[in-house]
Amino acid sequence: MSPLRLRDLSGIPDYKPGKAAPASSRGPAPFKLSSNENPYPPLRSVTEALNGSAALVNRYPETAASDLTRELCTRFAVEPAQLVLGSGSVEIVSQLIRATAGEGDEVVFAWRSFEAYPMLTLAAGAVPVRVPLTADHRHDLDAMLAAITERTRLVLVCNPNNPTGTVVTRDELDRFLGQVPPDVTVVIDEAYVQFNRHADSPQGIDYFRRHPNVAVAHTFSKAYGLAGLRVGYALAPVQLAAAMRKVALPFGVTALAQAAAVASLRAEDELAERVEHLVRERTRVTRALAEQGWRLPRTEANFLWFPLGGHTMAAAAEFETHGLLVRPFAGEGFRVTIAEVEANDAVIKAARSVRDAGLYD
Ligand SMILES: *Cc1c(COP(=O)(O)O)cnc(C)c1O
Repeated sequence: MSPLRLRDLSGIPDYKPGKAAPASSRGPAPFKLSSNENPYPPLRSVTEALNGSAALVNRYPETAASDLTRELCTRFAVEPAQLVLGSGSVEIVSQLIRATAGEGDEVVFAWRSFEAYPMLTLAAGAVPVRVPLTADHRHDLDAMLAAITERTRLVLVCNPNNPTGTVVTRDELDRFLGQVPPDVTVVIDEAYVQFNRHADSPQGIDYFRRHPNVAVAHTFSKAYGLAGLRVGYALAPVQLAAAMRKVALPFGVTALAQAAAVASLRAEDELAERVEHLVRERTRVTRALAEQGWRLPRTEANFLWFPLGGHTMAAAAEFETHGLLVRPFAGEGFRVTIAEVEANDAVIKAARSVRDAGLYD
């Protein structure tokens, strides 16, 4: 049998999904804290909207997504021509990369940041340029600026950053955008914006309004709790938005996803309470860990970053014995989602064991 002639994809890492709870296991029931999901079940109004749309699944979704587009345009005071929907904001990032960068063009982002960035860049045939985070786990915007070349088409700024939870400040972003060439697109990926309480951190929408080369990516997966439905969107300059639609996955946002997203936007007060609860839990866990002597980067997202270096995998195994599945990056650290109270209590206990085992110095 002769091998198929495929593209050379050997440079693209496989996507590692957050570890799922095993079907059966001994020990405490595992909490999946590896994908930054919302621990709450869908709101009743969302389930009702899904039930209402279920009878239509023999039809293709309406590609214009008029209801969802109208809701979002009203909320952000933008034109439909400036709004693009995608099958999760992962697809939005993919559209942004493929609309701006082709073979040999460069996409600049911080590292470590969202795992999908290098994969999506390589899949587009473009070249990822990874700019190391600062020693305190933050974007180094000066170094990112210095990394921009003639070949740079896109810069991704993940704020708050996945997996470290850190933010850029308005001053840093102002200085950065003041120097980025005007024909280079800057994307602010705000997957966790609803959890960000940092007084000096920028809101992407303000920058989208002021800078003609800025786009913002948002998702319904995290604060809105619709990760399983796959819906995200970008606010983008008209010219870029039109290009994104050309490379978008056809029918990428299902009618179910549209209906649930609209219902969520209309139930925002209820969802905001849930987010507030998770933020309070984040504060509680952060304080308990500080009392144990942990010095973790200040997080503005629904997760914590444990910079454990060479102890990462051993510490992740220790968390697993406490029934906690985390997202480890060997040699660097692991990310733990803030979830239900019981899971967070277990995180505090597991962190204590990791310290007692001498896995943090
Ligand atoms: C989770 C996440 C996304 C979005 O995921 P979707 O489920 O595809 O909307 C985008 N960017 C970052 C940084 C994320 O962590």
